[in-house]
Amino acid sequence: MKIFVTGGAGYIGSICVEQMLNQGHEVVVFDNLSEGHRKAVDPRTRLIVGDLQKPEEIASALRKESPEAVMHFAANALVGESMTNPSKYFRNNVYGGINLLDAMMAADVKKFVFSSTCATFGPPERNPIDETLPQRPINPYGESKLIFEKILRWYDEIHGLRYVALRYFNAAGASGAYGEDHRLETHIIPNVLKVALGQKEHVNIFGNDYETPDGTCIRDYIHILDLAQAHILALGAPSSACYNLGTGGGTSVREIIAACEKVTGKKIPVVETPRRPGDPPLLIAASDKVKRELGWKPQFQSIEKIIESAWAWHLKHPGGYGD
Ligand code: UDP
Repeated sequence: MKIFVTGGAGYIGSICVEQMLNQGHEVVVFDNLSEGHRKAVDPRTRLIVGDLQKPEEIASALRKESPEAVMHFAANALVGESMTNPSKYFRNNVYGGINLLDAMMAADVKKFVFSSTCATFGPPERNPIDETLPQRPINPYGESKLIFEKILRWYDEIHGLRYVALRYFNAAGASGAYGEDHRLETHIIPNVLKVALGQKEHVNIFGNDYETPDGTCIRDYIHILDLAQAHILALGAPSSACYNLGTGGGTSVREIIAACEKVTGKKIPVVETPRRPGDPPLLIAASDKVKRELGWKPQFQSIEKIIESAWAWHLKHPGGYGD
């Protein structure tokens, strides 16, 4: 299949591109390189540097390429930043997305896979979180993704768009060649690994008084290669749907740090700080629906294996992509 990937130079997009190429798909990447990296784009594909904020740029790229499907990763994804700059999130994640959908409709492209997030749920009334729970986001990032999920439903009903929205829990790990390099790194695993590499002195634990067994937040970390496989399966989905994607297991912040110490063989100094605003104590996915309907089978259940893959990549790329 020929697949047009927005945000294919970013962390999750670049690895999905690599995996699709490995499985024989033809891929074109569209990215404005604001968060992504040129070096993260697999040389077997082509990079179009373009901006979803400019309707004519995305419209002409889609008209020219005429793909069978679009995978849409291009977005801003930091909860904290969204709380101080909501406009950026609604402009990029909602307005940019509408420009993409309208360009798709004009080019008669009707298949769509969307990077959504568990942040669309907000603090859940129970865990694990399945698709029947109400979506009540508590930050503009989650709200922007939920608004776009709702827009997709109407493009399906009115224009016959066939979409799959994949709501990721915590993406982590690396493939052999590509990994996680954010210009502003806020995520726990890369931050701990930077300490192991000697690039940072300590890692902060944001809150030690949560109602969890060790007092720190618990998240469901999913290997990036398992995420990529879900995207590839989504291309063959028979009808529009939303799926929650995680392993169904939880790891606390302290457990992440302990696992990183084990994998890297380095002692990680920690500083315990107050809670980070907007962090729910416990987020775990129920992914039975995607397993049942798309036949998704995650390969990595062990947090150590996930961290091992991230550590191997960081050791090879201590300066990230270097841009
Ligand atoms: N966290 C932490 N120290 C850090 C970064 C994150 O204690 O330097 C915590 C954060 O408060 C959350 C968990 O680690 O409870 C996962 O955070 P991350 O930013 O990796 O992902 P999120 O769940 O926010 O998408």
